[in-house]
Amino acid sequence: MTDFKQMEVWFVTGSQHLYGPKTLAQVDKDSAAIVEGFNKSCKFPVTIVFKPVVKTPDEILDICIQASSNKNCIGLITWMHTFSPAKMWIAGLKALTKPYMHLHTQFNRDLPWGEIDMDYMNLHQSAHGCREFGFINSRMRKNRKVVVGHWQAENVQDNVAKWCRTAIGWADSQGLKVARFGDNMREVAVTEGDKVEAQIKFGWQISAYGVGDLVNYVEKITDAEVDELYREYEKEYEVAADCKPGGKYHENVRVQARYEIAMKRFMFDGNFKAFTTNFENLTGLAQLPGLASQRLMAAGYGFGAEGDWKQAAMLRIIKTMSAGMKGGSSFMEDYTYHLDPANEAVLGAHMLEICPSIAAKKPRLEVHPLGIGGKDAPARLIFDSATGDAMNVTLIDMGNRFRIIVNTLEVIEPLEKMPKLPVASAFWKTMPNLADGAAAWIYAGGTHHSAYTMALTPDYIETFAEFADVEYVVIDKDTCVTQFKKELRWNEIYYMLAK
Ligand code: MN
Repeated sequence: MTDFKQMEVWFVTGSQHLYGPKTLAQVDKDSAAIVEGFNKSCKFPVTIVFKPVVKTPDEILDICIQASSNKNCIGLITWMHTFSPAKMWIAGLKALTKPYMHLHTQFNRDLPWGEIDMDYMNLHQSAHGCREFGFINSRMRKNRKVVVGHWQAENVQDNVAKWCRTAIGWADSQGLKVARFGDNMREVAVTEGDKVEAQIKFGWQISAYGVGDLVNYVEKITDAEVDELYREYEKEYEVAADCKPGGKYHENVRVQARYEIAMKRFMFDGNFKAFTTNFENLTGLAQLPGLASQRLMAAGYGFGAEGDWKQAAMLRIIKTMSAGMKGGSSFMEDYTYHLDPANEAVLGAHMLEICPSIAAKKPRLEVHPLGIGGKDAPARLIFDSATGDAMNVTLIDMGNRFRIIVNTLEVIEPLEKMPKLPVASAFWKTMPNLADGAAAWIYAGGTHHSAYTMALTPDYIETFAEFADVEYVVIDKDTCVTQFKKELRWNEIYYMLAK
């Protein structure tokens, strides 16, 4: 999942015939040099593809239709080296179905003070050419990312590369299949939502299966397959003594190994990239899939507990966007508070299902009884999250629209050891502080479930929300609750009118 070089982002430069062939040849050459520079930089996860400069409405429409129908093309970088009268772009932008960004750069960084003349000025016209292009995008109410600065600057390349990663996430989102083992946890509101609208907005195909369908797979797993997977557990984790062969819980670990292989096979057969479970829907399974869900998340699958398909899909997309980057991502739940006024923080965890990609060190594999659900004691991995910057991302259904909420976090070491806690956890400070961060999250209707990531920053999610054209709000170090509440109210009106 880390090699995206077969994915293409097309670099499209706009101009017009007014400039004459000599200037246009130079524009082509400069654009090709930028593309070469981007592809040589190690920042870009995809292949940037140079496209000859477009000069007429027909050429623009043609490239937009090609991009929309090309399976490898996941988006466009647009740039106006010179002036490209923007009425020429209307038909193309109407036809374009792929995401695009606007790179507002100039080929030469510095003014050639001693040499500058009108020829130079006419060739290097991004400063006003891009404004003309910007107008038509705003006039057509198009969402697009604008990145400004010299194309060789680190921060500019970083921002363009971030956009490319978000486009990878968007490509993954189209047709993303989510398998729901069982349905929603009974009576829970926030995990519900409009799956038809999710398919229209995000492209997700969300299908429920009876747990019996999974049980059919579980029953076909052989002892030899379980033996082989167990040996992998021994290599990757500190396995508790009572979980090893001969121990009283060894068979419980083997049950999870069976689930892991079965779920993976089920998802491979159906091309599913994310899944949900529900501890209330386990007929035919002896344990809640704990270790199995944890390991499938680590393998890149999205996961949501209690039927939460929205967080399952979001986690999968976050994992795709951040593949190959530093820092893991996991399903997460705000579980318990530490309310010491001098050190307010959240202990995040779940019944079992936290992804070991966020672990600070080698996880321990243990078996403990589960307090709720009335099932056998499940095997699970136990660890503390790595520390540092992170964020929680959650998606909710407001009835007339989806809302994505992001809260930035600072993950810290737990203040003391928790020897009796039998699950993986993360301990974090909520931005801007617990009182304002949690209040803002609750005003926004944020769920107790989220996709927690140490790899990405809010701007990735902001861009993703713009691709989907859904509401996005962020709670970070600058959040003022009074202002945030107003934003929520204004958004209520905006999304009514924007329809
Ligand atoms: Mn939960």
